[in-house]
Amino acid sequence: MRNRWQADFIAQDAVEALIYQARCVGEEPALVLWGGGNNSMKTIEVDFDGSMVQAMRIKGSGGNMLAMQRRDYPAVRLAPLLALFEREAMSDEEMVRYVRHTLLDPDAPRPSIETLLHAFIPAPAVLHTHADAILMLTNTRGREATVRACFGDDVLIVPYLRPGFQLSKLVGAAVRANPNARGLVLMNHGLVTWGETPKEAYDRHIALVTEAEAFVAQRVFPAAAPAVPTSDVERRRALAVRIAPILRGLLSRERRVVLRFDDSDDVMTFMMRPDAPQLLQAGAATPDHMLHTKRAALWAPLPLQEPLDDATIREHLRAHLEAYEAACKRRFAQHYDPSLLSAEAAAQVSDLPRVIFVPGVGMWTAGRDMRAATVAADIAHHTLAIMQAAQALGGYVSLNDAEAFHAEYWPLELYKLTLAPPERELARRVALVTGAGHGIGKAIALRLAAEGAHVVVTDIDEAAARAVAEQIVQQHGLGRALALHLDVTDEASVNAAFDRAVLTYGGVDIVISNAGIARAAAIVDLSLEDWQRSLAVNATGHFLVSRAALRLMQRQGIGGSLVFNATKNVTAPGKEFGAYSAAKAAEAQLCRIVAIEGGEHGIRANMVNPDAVFSTQLWSPELRRQRAQAQGIPENQIEEYYAKRNLLRARVTAEDVAEAVFWLASDRSAKTTGAMIPVDGGVREAFPR
Ligand code: ZN
Repeated sequence: MRNRWQADFIAQDAVEALIYQARCVGEEPALVLWGGGNNSMKTIEVDFDGSMVQAMRIKGSGGNMLAMQRRDYPAVRLAPLLALFEREAMSDEEMVRYVRHTLLDPDAPRPSIETLLHAFIPAPAVLHTHADAILMLTNTRGREATVRACFGDDVLIVPYLRPGFQLSKLVGAAVRANPNARGLVLMNHGLVTWGETPKEAYDRHIALVTEAEAFVAQRVFPAAAPAVPTSDVERRRALAVRIAPILRGLLSRERRVVLRFDDSDDVMTFMMRPDAPQLLQAGAATPDHMLHTKRAALWAPLPLQEPLDDATIREHLRAHLEAYEAACKRRFAQHYDPSLLSAEAAAQVSDLPRVIFVPGVGMWTAGRDMRAATVAADIAHHTLAIMQAAQALGGYVSLNDAEAFHAEYWPLELYKLTLAPPERELARRVALVTGAGHGIGKAIALRLAAEGAHVVVTDIDEAAARAVAEQIVQQHGLGRALALHLDVTDEASVNAAFDRAVLTYGGVDIVISNAGIARAAAIVDLSLEDWQRSLAVNATGHFLVSRAALRLMQRQGIGGSLVFNATKNVTAPGKEFGAYSAAKAAEAQLCRIVAIEGGEHGIRANMVNPDAVFSTQLWSPELRRQRAQAQGIPENQIEEYYAKRNLLRARVTAEDVAEAVFWLASDRSAKTTGAMIPVDGGVREAFPR
């Protein structure tokens, strides 16, 4: 393990040193993942009344070590915490309330659930991680002997106990009795080191982890894993595209999830182990992983030989999920203690798996968004490595059933869930928008993203799609958008884009069929080529997109919403717009057929009819010139001319259209299908009738 502490780093104060230490740790995924791990430093602080007080800066609960900031290190008064060392017992709830009272700033974030553990260690700086190499030692059969064989006697060992008051006392007592120990191993949990400074605690931490890595490397010779045939990639991804929507549908019964697919080499080779299902069943490597991955993954073999139809896939997946849920319910009935956790809080924990292995195909991780699915995937990768090493060191073992249950349903860990921002209206949904690189499509993509959707931003102009997707990710976070090239006139391109959406997110809930072109010419002057081009984009394009959407949504089985961007010309065509209006009329009729055929599957289809939205590519300089000429007005008055033409004298913007599309895409319009909403400022001859 590389020591990342730069020799020339000088911290101005304790918090700066802790932030730096946290970054050194966080940059190493084999030490901590996402919200795992914590660090502290004892300090002297000015209390609210101006007096000096002995305090401790401790990481806030659930923060990511890679991204800590000053406010993430609340200060707690040390004396009242140390007084607790004399107590016999303390409930979690009492402990949390007590620790809250010791905050110097009552509005500071909740301190780590391991605050007492840090306080009780009589050293200025303390660091705790869930290092992979340590878990490889502690999660073995005969774990104490393994840890001893690695470190000798000058590292302390504390048996597994759920984090909380008792564990903190045990750790405090062990360190007080052996202040010169090099560190302390928490069985099935992680490593604690301490020192005079954060640097010293960190150096010791890295030294011990490095020793553990060397110990493991000397004893574990990964049997030359059977190579995954590379020719398999295409076949298994084709299977994944067929399986994912069905799996997502089954997992989304209560609340939708985003499903992330992963067929990395380590996943594929792990699944070839004969003991893979037993290892996965053994459970998580450290308690805080369970918040993201649940206790155990689902092993879901499918009969992959052709012919493999949807019904077979569904039937097998359903049986696997039912068995998984039944086991969860059994465990709940056996171990649930209402005095430890309210029924309401327990209901936060779903009985559905978060990590699913389909042998020969890959691994899916489920979450409320792409970030959550990615956290679960990262943890799963590290868990696979830990399981295999521990298996070679004598056999992988995790917590027993009761311990695992209480870790999974531990209120203080569940509290972290409440830190996530409240879900937006389109959270957990995936929207695919065509022609989303510019104009109305772009405004729609940004609007749906702002409402919480994951957006597949597609356009024939891939660079433009990428720019929009990057903007969404910047604003809304990891994995919230995917940019794809999509030519709506090309069947293969449309299908490939839907496949990519399925591999990335597991499925699609909202499809905005928006891409369109307009070229004006009187029929006498209209070339066959322009006519056919308009039909290809403005009619056939919508057919190809809606067909792919319907097929996918039907297989998913959780409904869906399609919104077609049509035009005012559907109800009130204008001269010299023959090719455009005729093709758009086909689009409108197609939308109604989609509504008719989709109804029984809970799939809705509606259209918006915008008019004169000048901020779009459709209104090319050439078209502006032509329309100005046709209306007999100067070109620079064209926008004003169109605004005056409508009842509200309104200039219609792309954002106005996006607003109507959002309403139709969301459950706000759950009882509306086959409808047409004008967004045109009011054009009397275009009133739908
Ligand atoms: Zn921990």
